[in-house]
Order: sequence, then structure tokens, then C-alpha cells
Amino acid sequence: MKKLAVNIARLILAVAFILSGFVKAVDPLGTQYKIQDYLVAMGLGRLIPDFMTLSASVLLSTLEFILGICLLFAIRRRMVSKIVLVLMAAMTLLTLWLALTDPISDCGCFGDALVLTNWQTFWKNIVLLTAAVIVWRYPLLMPRLIGEANQWIVMNYSGVFILLVIAGRSLYTLPQFDFRPYHVGTNLRQGWQRMMEGEDSPYAEFFMELTDEGEDITEDVLNREGYTFLLVSPHLEQADDSQLDALNQIYEYSLDNGYPFYCLTASTEKGINHWRNITGAEYPFCNTDDITLKTIIRSNPGLLLLKNGVIIRKWSHNNLPDEQDLTGELETSELGQLPSDTVATKILWILTWFVLPLVLLTLADRLWAWSGWLRKRNNNNPLNKEKVIMRKKIVAGNWKMNMNLQDGIALAKELNETLKADKPNCGVVICTPFIHLASIAQFLDQDIIGLGAENCADKEKGAFTGEVSAEMVKSTGAQYVILGHSERREYYKETPEILKEKVLLAQKNGLKVIFCIGESLAEREAGKQNEVVKAELEGSVFNLSEEDFRKIVIAYEPIWAIGTGKTATAEQAEEIHAYIRSIIAEKYGNAVAEDTTILYGGSCKASNAPELFAKPDIDGGLIGGASLKCADFKGIIDAWKK
Ligand code: PEP
Repeated sequence: MKKLAVNIARLILAVAFILSGFVKAVDPLGTQYKIQDYLVAMGLGRLIPDFMTLSASVLLSTLEFILGICLLFAIRRRMVSKIVLVLMAAMTLLTLWLALTDPISDCGCFGDALVLTNWQTFWKNIVLLTAAVIVWRYPLLMPRLIGEANQWIVMNYSGVFILLVIAGRSLYTLPQFDFRPYHVGTNLRQGWQRMMEGEDSPYAEFFMELTDEGEDITEDVLNREGYTFLLVSPHLEQADDSQLDALNQIYEYSLDNGYPFYCLTASTEKGINHWRNITGAEYPFCNTDDITLKTIIRSNPGLLLLKNGVIIRKWSHNNLPDEQDLTGELETSELGQLPSDTVATKILWILTWFVLPLVLLTLADRLWAWSGWLRKRNNNNPLNKEKVIMRKKIVAGNWKMNMNLQDGIALAKELNETLKADKPNCGVVICTPFIHLASIAQFLDQDIIGLGAENCADKEKGAFTGEVSAEMVKSTGAQYVILGHSERREYYKETPEILKEKVLLAQKNGLKVIFCIGESLAEREAGKQNEVVKAELEGSVFNLSEEDFRKIVIAYEPIWAIGTGKTATAEQAEEIHAYIRSIIAEKYGNAVAEDTTILYGGSCKASNAPELFAKPDIDGGLIGGASLKCADFKGIIDAWKK
């Protein structure tokens, strides 16, 4: 149930973030205007320059889109769920303020594609915030759609797509999807007529008033049969003047062919005169509402072509029609017809170039993971025994004297759920204080996580107040026991003889022993590490028969690295692991040595585990401090997936 809830929440958030990011990126200027509206409502309107609000618009859309993709593919689950939660908390507060004070009418969450009232937006955000809390609480219950190795491709591909292909292209040309009431294909004549008849209409502020005579020509222009060019510039003072020649050419073309040409602007006379001076413009100017002009076209200046009152073309100043396009009459040229790229063709383009590659990549990734699983299963087939490296990879946690019963149970439960949702690529064991064992054994899925004690007595049973025997450990349901840890050797004076007894009793009771060896700092500095580990092995586990030795897991733990934050370098660790394997080979032969699991312990963390585990003789880790938090421990376990 929990997993289902997390994944429903993840899907809701992913869809909302992808949609919201996409529609904002499609219309970066529209999003910028909305950000400016917010700033004005907060009294900060004049303080923030335009380039900053435009950058904020592009960054916001990119962030939302990439977060949505990360949620969909379950990429960087912990980090992404935290960012989403913070973002949703901030957005919910912001929209509560909007709903209560109503400084702007529409929040702009989904651009012009879906306009919500402020209260609708607030309740929508409450739903999304709840989903974000669920996902943040159990991020690891979201199964990945793609392996970690390929996640960067998905993120970078999505980033390039949204930033360059969608936002960049929309900024350079015009929004690729136009959700405003002035999109190509709009019958302005009909819309305006309905407004005049008193119907609710988005064209209430659309008017064209000749600046020279003050005459309103809206009706004439919209009712005119044939073509009309409208150059649109909310503010001529800020208009891009790099394409003046192209504009003048279009104007001349319209004169030659008898098509009316007007410039619609909200500029003052001064602005219009300035434009006339720099461009030599001879076309008539009309006054229009500046918000309406910004809504009509996201380009300053931009060009519109009307045919019989219908908008049939829109051009940004960056891609105006050129000389070759302007030959012959519009009636017979391609330019004079509605464009062939419909919404459906644009959606198809996105499906082909964005969605399909990601689907193919996901399929290839899953196929590869599946074939890896098959290869592994084949390797475990007894018929292929000679090819198999038998030794098991293990990550074992040593909780030491930490956590009361309740905290320990909570941690074990969290780990249990986490690893059930995202199966490890190695054996996992948790070794806990005695008092936790029986309770944890009740719910732990021991096919995934083995349970062990941190010690057991060197006596079978009897009057040994305070001791816990191997048999008792086994009776809790535990399968493992750590023996010979340096802290027990040092603080409780456990000698090789005592350890020999403990190992025998543990094995007699069917416990698997994780046997620790390792040198002190002084011994390492004296170059005696090999000597020390050899003596520790010879004094205890090297007394076992080959059959019993095969059941032992060795943990090499340099004492100077335990709990100190100092880690042996991967090379140092590999060197001594190889040495340990070589002396096992001397004692029991190559086959046993090859099959013996040798773990490294000592300040092992998620950050250094991959490098350590990549070494040929390091078969995993015995983890102290970092096993006390599920996320940290999981990070180390995941090192086997890299
Ligand atoms: C340990 O005590 O077994 C150990 C490796 O501790 P830490 O990881 O905290 O260094």
C-alpha cells in the first residue's frame, strides 16, 4: 500500500512538473510577464531588470521540467524529492497569499494553457504538496525506470531539449504552441463581432486607432476582404531594430500588391517619431492597448498577416519572410495560406525526437539489466561451476552500542522496505546489539538482509552472568555473528584463544562468523601490518578445517581507520587484502582463497565505497557509523550497482 501511494504521488508530481515546465518553456516571454506581475504585486517591480526576469523564467521552466523527468524516471530520488518538497512548500505559501489578497488574477502555473483561479491554484498546490511529502518520506520506494549508469543521459537530454529546443527556439522565433486568443487560425473578425454583441470575449481590449487622425479603424480592418499586414510593437522604443531592411521590404511589397500595412503600438508620439526617424517608416501607426499587443505576439516587433479577418501567419522579427518568399501575390503563394505545420505535426515532432529516444534508451537499459541478471543466473548454475567466482559480495552493518530498541526496530524496518523496493546487488547483513535481535528477526526479510549479533560468549552455557551464548543468538533467528572486532580485543581483552572458542561455538550453533582482523596505527607505521593480520588468523580461524574455514567471512579493519574518518586508500586496502588472500591460499589452497569473502572496514562511506569495492580482492565492507542511517548504508550497498 505504501509503495502504491508513493508511486501514485510520484506520477502526479511528475506529470504536473513536466507539464508546468513545458508550457512555461514554450512561452518564456509570457512567463517573464507573469514574474513581472508578481514582482509588481510585491512592490519590487522596478527593482529587477528585464534580463533577470527573463532568465528567471527560462531557469524556472527548465528546473520544473527536469524535476518532473527525474521523478518520472526516479533519478537521484532522495535529492529530487527534497527539492520538490521545498519548492512545493514555497509555492503553496505563495499561492495562499495570492488567494487571500488577490493581487493578480491568475497564478500562471500552466502558462496560458490552463488558467486557474487563485483558490483553485492553492488547492491544486495542497494536493501536490501532500504528494511531495509522501515522496520525500519514502523516496527509495520509487522503482527506477533506468539504471544509474544511464541516468545522466536522460537528465542532459531533457535539459538540452527544454532549454534549447523549446525555450531557446520559442524565444528566437515564436512560441511553438500558442495558447493565446490570437493564435494562427483565429478568426478575429468573428471574435470581435461577438464582443460587440455583448458576449464575454478576450477581444474587449483589441482596438486600432489611427494615431494621426484618431479614427478607430478596427471594424474596417477586420471586415476587410483580402490580406492585411499588422506590424506589432508594444513599445517601439524597446523594439529590436536589426531587421529594418526586411521590414521595409515587406512594407514595399504590401504597397506594390495593394495590401494594407499598419503598425500597432502603445508607444507615445515621441516613440513613434523615433521609430520613423531610424527606420524611415511610412506606414500608418495605430494605438492599441499594450497588454493586448504583448498577448498578440511574443516578439517586439512581430508581424501578423490577416486574411479576411483571420490570423493566418505570425513572424518574429528574427524570422521575417525574405525576398524569395515575397514574390507574386499572396493569393497564389504559400505565404498567403495557413501554415502546414499543425499542432498535431508539432506534437508528432516532439514524440519522435524527445519521447521516442527516451523510450528506446529505457528499453535498451532494461534489456541490458535483464541480460545481466540472466548472465548472473547462468553463472550460478551448478553446471557452469568452474567458471564461477564463488565468493559472495557483502555489505554488513555493525551498529555497535547504538540505538534503543524502538529506534533500532525503526531503522531495520526502513532498511527492509528500502531494499525490498530496490533489491541490492550484494548480500546485506545488519549486526545489532543482542536486545534487538528477536524483535527484528520477526519482520526482516532474511532473503534480502541477514541478521547478526556483534558478539557471543566463549562458553556454551552456565553461570556466566551477563553473557549471551551462540545458541541464544541463534535462537533469536539471527544467522551471523561478528567476532574478533578490535574494540572487543582492546576493551574486553579478547585473546586469540578466547576467539578460537567463540568461533567454534558460533559455528557449532550454525552461525556464520564475520571475523575481524587488523593492525593498529603504531603497527602500520612500523610496517608490521602483514605480520599482525597473519598472527591474528593463525591464532584463531586458521585452526579450522577447510570445510569450516569456508564458512568464515574475513573483515580486514585497520584499527586506525575505525570511526576516525581516516580510510585506508583503495590501494592500501587492496594490497593487504591480496596478502590475506595469499596466506589463505598458502594454508588452504587457491580454491578456498578464491572463494573467501574479505570485507574492508574503517570509515567506509557511500563516497569511497565504489573505489574500494572496485578492487579485485575487496569483496564488500563492514560498516560502523554509516550503517546507522538507512540512506548512508544504502548508499554503500548501491556501490555494488555502479
Ligand atoms: C567498525 O567498527 O566495524 C567500523 C568499520 O566502523 P566505522 O565504519 O565507523 O569506521
